[in-house]
Amino acid sequence: MLVSGSGRQRAAVARIDQNMSADLYIARLKQHGHRVTPKVRAVIALFLKSGTVLDPFEVRAGLQKQFKGVGLPTVYRILEGLARCGILLTAANEDRQLRYYICRDLEAGHHHHFLCRQCGQVEEVNLCLMEEVTQYVKRHLKARVESHFLQIEGLCARCNRQPGIPAPEPLTHHPHKG
Ligand SMILES: [Zn+2]
Ligand SMILES: [Zn+2]
Ligand SMILES: [Zn+2]
Repeated sequence: MLVSGSGRQRAAVARIDQNMSADLYIARLKQHGHRVTPKVRAVIALFLKSGTVLDPFEVRAGLQKQFKGVGLPTVYRILEGLARCGILLTAANEDRQLRYYICRDLEAGHHHHFLCRQCGQVEEVNLCLMEEVTQYVKRHLKARVESHFLQIEGLCARCNRQPGIPAPEPLTHHPHKG
């Protein structure tokens, strides 16, 4: 099992997983008629590596090393394209700053994500318990639910383990970084 493997083995496994999912993302992009440019690949890799919510400025900063002088309009265009394909999702924010995160399970059906408001880490929540709400709406409002949006926020396992941590501001209030 992975648990008993060395750090190096674990890293290798993680790398393979990353490559496998990269293929899925590229297939999805092609399905939607998107060009898969080196910058698009780099943005996907950046989100997979970070595993957190990122804003366009952070994405641009992450691309600088590989693509010196890459402009924000290019970054916005790539992010929007990836979001249209369902590869990236937008994090809802009260400050209206656009932030994105990547779905790591494209093959899963309808599901949700957990966002850590302390470190921004994103986890897959392969579950939806909306049936009761749907039934409620049907019964009491005589209406039909067609879609819903659910953003689950809290403290990830790591942040939750640190005792005495000052109550963090919700993700939605984080000042813009970088
Ligand atoms: Zn997902
Ligand atoms: Zn749902
Ligand atoms: Zn966290």
